Amino acid sequence: MLASRMTHVSDAVIIGAGIVGAAIAYRLTERGLHVRILDAADAPATGSTGRSAAGVRVQFASDLNVRLSLAGIEEYRTFEAVHGLPSGYRPQGYLFLVPEAAWPAHARAVEVQRAAGAPVEVLTPDAAQAHTPFDPAGVHAATYGPIDGVVDPHQVTTGYLRTARRVGATLHLRTRVERARHAAGTWRVEAVSEGRTETFEAPLVVNAAGAWAGRVAATAGLPLAVEPVRRMIFATGPVAAPHPYPLTVDVASGTYLRGEGERLLFGRSDPDQAPGFVEGIDWAWLDATLATALPRFPWMEAVGLDRGASWWGYYEVTPDHDAILGRHPDAEGWIDAAGFSGHGVQHAAMVGRLIAEEAVDGAAHTLDLAPLRHARFADPGRDGGETHIV
Ligand SMILES: Cc1cc2nc3c(=O)[nH]c(=O)nc-3n(C[C@H](O)[C@H](O)[C@H](O)COP(=O)(O)OP(=O)(O)OC[C@H]3O[C@@H](n4cnc5c(N)ncnc54)[C@H](O)[C@@H]3O)c2cc1C
Repeated sequence: MLASRMTHVSDAVIIGAGIVGAAIAYRLTERGLHVRILDAADAPATGSTGRSAAGVRVQFASDLNVRLSLAGIEEYRTFEAVHGLPSGYRPQGYLFLVPEAAWPAHARAVEVQRAAGAPVEVLTPDAAQAHTPFDPAGVHAATYGPIDGVVDPHQVTTGYLRTARRVGATLHLRTRVERARHAAGTWRVEAVSEGRTETFEAPLVVNAAGAWAGRVAATAGLPLAVEPVRRMIFATGPVAAPHPYPLTVDVASGTYLRGEGERLLFGRSDPDQAPGFVEGIDWAWLDATLATALPRFPWMEAVGLDRGASWWGYYEVTPDHDAILGRHPDAEGWIDAAGFSGHGVQHAAMVGRLIAEEAVDGAAHTLDLAPLRHARFADPGRDGGETHIV
């Protein structure tokens, strides 16, 4: 009696109720699967999803990443009609300020974006000032994505989960996966939920555990090259003249800012941040960030910081800064959807659809996932991965 009460059977177990797990749950239930979603946290979207800069952009260098974003933006644009909740999509744009040395590669990426049907404008530094004021020293040219912008990742996650649950998906919160074993075509996933062990049985497991995906794969004895890397976002207090500045990236330094309501958000990825589950804001990095932000955006000098509104979270990083998607080569019935390296919010929508195809149809087919599959790491001739990383 006790054993059966604690064993839950379904067609698929999804580990992680962030935006990626939620999008996959929605698409798998749409394809008729009974899905259980497990998350260690008290609420959905409390991992990286709830800590992102919420940006969506078509401005990537690889064709597949451009197409993932393009489809994602379209889904977020029409989200409310399907899920009954607005996605919060606001096309406030992305503006890249590019130095001369980086321009040839950046211009090639614009060709890739346009070939995929993504709208991108090339601007002179003068023309770019209309979007965000900046000191043009060393800026050779700029690119602007008019459909790029932001969404509300909490709301998107909630919308996907709400639709999935309406047609039978079950969400198990406070349920931490500790062990997974495969035998006779069935995965037995053991999780601790409020002090007791529960078992989830399914022929299919989807690992959507974000920065923890490497750890989760290890509970099944599987290798997965995803590591957590701490990132910070600093928030200003209210500014005198609030403006929805596009997410503006100074490519030379990696510093970025954007408008959010009456504030500005800004940041810069620390290239020396060691991987690991280190927590909290590194306030020393604020000085390093301002050291590059103020010369480029001198008007920020007049804006006060709001320490309490600033935050940190984990990028879920792979060796080539591209996600790892698809069936694990060493395990039947195990699919990974992780390692988005700081761009999972914008790719989640299309990833949900592709992973459902992988699960139900045998392989993803709307887009060719080859550049993001596990097998790429075994290819000595592979390229270095995505270069448009913020
Ligand atoms: C500062 C910052 C800025 C970012 N900016 C952007 C941006 O502008 N645009 C963009 O697209 N992306 C951005 N990202 C990246 C984006 O947030 C992530 O790529 C995305 O949220 C990944 O979603 P996910 O669902 O895979 O992971 P998560 O949201 O982290 O979800 C994983 C879930 O797995 C659960 N979990 C972990 N271990 C276990 C376990 N053992 N058992 C059960 N559950 C478990 C966690 O509790 C968590 O809820 C940013 C990230 C950060 C930190």
